[in-house]
Amino acid sequence: MSEFDLISSYLSKIGSRRDDVILGVGDDAALVAPKAGQQLAIALDTLISGVHFPVNTTPEDIAYKALAVNLSDLAAIGADPVWATLALTLPDSDESWLKAFAAGFDQLARQHDVQLIGGDTTRGPLSISVQVAGEVPPGKALRRDGGKPGDKLYVTGTIGDAGLGLKSVFGEVADELVFATARLNRPSARVHEGLALRGIASACIDVSDGLLADLQHILDASHCGAIMAVYDVPLSEEVSSHFELLEGWPGVLNAGDDYELCFTVPPSHEPELLQVAEQWDCPIRCIGELCEGRGIRCVDKNGQTLSLTTHGYDHFGSVDE
Ligand code: ADP
Ligand code: MG
Repeated sequence: MSEFDLISSYLSKIGSRRDDVILGVGDDAALVAPKAGQQLAIALDTLISGVHFPVNTTPEDIAYKALAVNLSDLAAIGADPVWATLALTLPDSDESWLKAFAAGFDQLARQHDVQLIGGDTTRGPLSISVQVAGEVPPGKALRRDGGKPGDKLYVTGTIGDAGLGLKSVFGEVADELVFATARLNRPSARVHEGLALRGIASACIDVSDGLLADLQHILDASHCGAIMAVYDVPLSEEVSSHFELLEGWPGVLNAGDDYELCFTVPPSHEPELLQVAEQWDCPIRCIGELCEGRGIRCVDKNGQTLSLTTHGYDHFGSVDE
């Protein structure tokens, strides 16, 4: 099949059919009609085979994850996803691979009412770039720089699952870990939760590089520090029972790829948070608070400070993990 046949067969009808898409895949550029008075949030993430997903990941899961990590960025800024574009670099024109990839992308795109409106297709080592756009009312975005000392620190879901999933995929765990592997391959983008946090959270980020590293981004932008009660960090059953294998708290708090939201809430907004969060698919947990100063102080149950170093994933950092 030619490049054009591949695109029209498998990539031209992915996701919802949205009224605000005037012209989708097929012309020189897509035409869209943003809602009057809304701002557009734009995010882009690239997934490289062997770096962002194990080489034996299924095409459905690769596509799902490529879109999910982008939707997670929109969730973290409080935007409502609308459109996506896709830059695909493929080693060959394997039709069955592309068909499965399209199915994985389509499934998640429809769930969030997103339409794939264009992209680019090239030949080379497998890599997938997805760009997403989302709408957010002016002044309502969940930025990283709004945290204040005294704000409570929360996370959604559970932390460390994807890191454990990676160990499972690499055969470093005796038993097959279904939950952790699913969390690695099909992360949940907390889009619904991000939208509900508008007007409640003072700062927000998604946990892609490890909880400590990502919380530090909020602290840098908000010019404050944090105290984290590590024993309150929510863990799944699989992570709890493989805690030592993950090397304890340093491993869990530096594990990437969970795509949960880490956010701060002024105490005056907490009652509203607890009320809206009752409707969510995922639990939330208060794990500490912001304070004056810099850095993250992790404390255990006895109030003792744990010395944990942050080594979130850094593509250009020294390779120590
Ligand atoms: P051009 O040479 O004008 O850039 P292309 O051949 O790259 O055109 O693309 C033709 C059409 O197919 C465009 O509308 C483009 O957006 C769409 N397209 C190409 N690759 C993809 C892809 N991977 N996913 C979605 N749409 C794509
Ligand atoms: Mg092109």
